[in-house]
Amino acid sequence: MKEEMEKLIDLQRIDSEIASYDLAISKHEAAIAHREQSIAEKQEKLTAIQSKIERLNQKQQETKNELDEAGARVKDRQNKMLLVQNSREHQALLKEIEDNKKTVKDNEERILQFIEQIEQLEEEALAVENLCKGEQELLTEAMQTAEKEIKDLGASKKSILGQREAKAAALDASFFKRYNKLLAKRDGLAVVMVQDSVCRGCNMTLPPQQVNEVLKGDKLNICPTCQRILYILEEDPREMETSAQDAAR
Ligand SMILES: [Zn+2]
Repeated sequence: MKEEMEKLIDLQRIDSEIASYDLAISKHEAAIAHREQSIAEKQEKLTAIQSKIERLNQKQQETKNELDEAGARVKDRQNKMLLVQNSREHQALLKEIEDNKKTVKDNEERILQFIEQIEQLEEEALAVENLCKGEQELLTEAMQTAEKEIKDLGASKKSILGQREAKAAALDASFFKRYNKLLAKRDGLAVVMVQDSVCRGCNMTLPPQQVNEVLKGDKLNICPTCQRILYILEEDPREMETSAQDAAR
């Protein structure tokens, strides 16, 4: 039983190491994804600004056309003024000229506002574009570093996976099955140490009788709270002491 237990402990050590490689790899991947997300958001913002600029340019052009038309009408009515004789027609033309002059003036003001808004947006777009460029450069660097590190981590993982296979093959099949189930159910931690009579998987205190049994190690001991497989390092003097005290009681 002690031998099987040692194999289980080794297996857990190997699996914890594998999990640490997986975690490190996923951290690299998450960091890259985070940078990519940030760039994508900025590009989206840039597109929104650019379409705003486009709309304003269009409005500016429409306003300019209206202004030109009103200007042309002013000239046209001024020419007509020279030809009309009666005062009613004269008044009507004067009113039209006034109205169109007002349109020209209003549209000139609107155009200035459009120009100002467009300038502001273009500045904003440039700032976002520069940020994007900077982040893109950082992303390229980060990707190169991550790629190398992920490759190294993958190589370490591959080599330890070989060790896992060998350990698994040497272990009793039913133990291995049980271990794997526990590993999946208990967040990658199936075999845990008992320290100061506490299960280090769930941090619950174990009954003294159970600590003694774990110490004896002649059967598979399971934590009553988290169902993990328990062991005590034989050289752990604290446990030996606890056990001795319990025995003396
Ligand atoms: Zn436990």
